[in-house]
Amino acid sequence: MKMVIGNWKMNGNIDLLHSIVPTLLHEGLGSAVALCLPYPYLSAAHSLLKAARSQIKLGAQNVSEHPFGGYTGEISAAMLKEFGCRLVLVGHPERRSLFGETREVTAGKLHAALGAGLYPVYCVGETLAQREGGLARQAMVDELALLAGVPTDRYAVAYEPSWAIGGGVTATSADINDMHLFIKDVLGPGTRVLYGGSVKSHNAGQVLGLDSVDGVLVGNAALSASEFLSICHTANRCAHGEPIELLKKPRAGLIDTDGPSHHLPGMPSIDSPFWREF
Ligand code: PEP
Repeated sequence: MKMVIGNWKMNGNIDLLHSIVPTLLHEGLGSAVALCLPYPYLSAAHSLLKAARSQIKLGAQNVSEHPFGGYTGEISAAMLKEFGCRLVLVGHPERRSLFGETREVTAGKLHAALGAGLYPVYCVGETLAQREGGLARQAMVDELALLAGVPTDRYAVAYEPSWAIGGGVTATSADINDMHLFIKDVLGPGTRVLYGGSVKSHNAGQVLGLDSVDGVLVGNAALSASEFLSICHTANRCAHGEPIELLKKPRAGLIDTDGPSHHLPGMPSIDSPFWREF
């Protein structure tokens, strides 16, 4: 199974939640799909998913490295669990670049999540300067060192080159494959590595068709039910080895000019024992 994790970032509102979640439920999405929502929507989303007995997983976009105490504005891992979260993004490039999250802080968050029984999706990726300076692999090794000794079924890694986030530019298939194989090589063959960086319905097949890609982390495209469903559908087909439609758009370093587009009918159920352990 290939995972699809939607990251709403600081977007959306309660109306969007009440329109997107029922659509996903209606389409029968299952355990390989997760939504990382802003904190205020977690409780409502949990209720909707629970009432429908859905296997779609709920996640947060951040977590405090502290268990409790005088940390105004922070949310602990235990609180996330109370509100139905099963996973949490740790070290997202936007947290690192906009909020100054250092590797020490990221390490604390990783261990807080693991300690509380959450499934961290640990985001790593090089900056453009590191890539251009030939330092991308070294940057990766430094980040991955935080996971040394952690069993590979307790977490996923999301390869998110910061230059590909949000801007509509994706890494090439060759870049993605190269980095994913490298990460698996460093952490061990059982490691699940997702790709994140401007994945949309029109390029999802190109990314998810790679054997080294165990799923995708989807930002802006997760705000459209039709886009997100289309990506889930592609993930399902790729996981079953079915042929996928390749791009109708330029392939490498493509600039996205489309907004959310076509609706994809007949989304099959995505349900698998994959990542059921958390
Ligand atoms: C993300 O926020 O993790 C992400 C991959 O965003 P986008 O798909 O918008 O680049």
